[in-house]
Amino acid sequence: MEEKNLPELIDENQYPDFWQQIKSFQEFAKDVGQGAIKGNGFLATQEEQENRLNICNECPHFNLDQKRCYKCGCFMEHKIKFTNSKCPISKW
Ligand code: SF4
Repeated sequence: MEEKNLPELIDENQYPDFWQQIKSFQEFAKDVGQGAIKGNGFLATQEEQENRLNICNECPHFNLDQKRCYKCGCFMEHKIKFTNSKCPISKW
């Protein structure tokens, strides 16, 4: 059997594991809820949503086919809509 280096065996484009995705979703829900309570509004403007999606479209951590982020596992067409949601690596 051919020996491979560890980086070759790890697909960097895999999503986080199930529990990390649950944690990401909890953080997302908390951020959105806290933003609404603080009066920051609930839904981002259309312009802001488009800006976010444009950033994701250029990001190497974005699955263009599924519109899904490899870093958090979230479906970005939904996540971008909420004022207080965040990119997991602070790109927006
Ligand atoms: S949320 Fe952030 S890390 Fe994820 S695809 Fe968009 S820009 Fe990239």
